Amino acid sequence: MSSYSDTEQYRDCGDTPAARADLRQHTVTVVFQGHSPVAQSDAGQPAKYVGSMDLSQVMGALGLSLISVTPVEIQKRLWACIGFEEAGESLGDHPHLAMVYSDKDWLTQQNLHAAVQGALKGRRRVMVRIHSECILGDAFGSSMCDCGDQLRLSMDEMESKREGILIYLRQEGRGIGLRNKLDCLALQYGFDQGVKGHRRYSSDEANVAMGFDVDHRHYDVAARLMQALGIASTQLITGNPKKIADLEACGIKVEGALDLWTQGTSPRAMEEIQEKISRGYIYQR
Ligand SMILES: [Zn+2]
Repeated sequence: MSSYSDTEQYRDCGDTPAARADLRQHTVTVVFQGHSPVAQSDAGQPAKYVGSMDLSQVMGALGLSLISVTPVEIQKRLWACIGFEEAGESLGDHPHLAMVYSDKDWLTQQNLHAAVQGALKGRRRVMVRIHSECILGDAFGSSMCDCGDQLRLSMDEMESKREGILIYLRQEGRGIGLRNKLDCLALQYGFDQGVKGHRRYSSDEANVAMGFDVDHRHYDVAARLMQALGIASTQLITGNPKKIADLEACGIKVEGALDLWTQGTSPRAMEEIQEKISRGYIYQR
């Protein structure tokens, strides 16, 4: 069972290797003492017909705009893809995506929105990966980071478990955007506006040198999407304590965190992983 003390243990454990090792021995459980935002949709008044709200309405009550839902075939398996964004904050042609995997045969459904809405409703420990966009890693297979591996391994794991949600958030470059990220990457290789400099920067150092924080990402929009799908709790694929804390603050019950690992991670990506560990990430590897 879970308690706030577990939560505090998780938050505090990033300080010492011993505490981290202890954390790895058991499942981390986080409890939310809150209410369903769906039931408090209009100016704090309980929504009257929550049970009959369709996916678009539920998402709307959570401050999300549903753009579209469609089946998508990925390596011969069918996922349901939800395109969405925050209400009133258009992402243009690059909406967030939520890829839903379940036993449902999406192509035989009369109402795809209803099928997606109910596919994982009430399910506990649903495997969820909240993946922030990294176009070089995700699409080009860059070995500077392990983003592409994480994306592929997460989806493989969900398929093997026969359910899961991959939430793909458009916060490229840890939230600083692709334009700035490209400049940061150049700095990492020792180039400043194309001119060879006197030193190379680490990933974190490059962000700071460019005037950014190390990490600008937020996860509340992912939490709201998870609430719209009505999962009872999640098993989150992450080593990032802040991600868990952010979800908890938004009302998501996290019943475990795991990370996925491939032996093929490059030395360059390992440098970045070590840097993450130095600022509190916890891996079971
Ligand atoms: Zn990456």
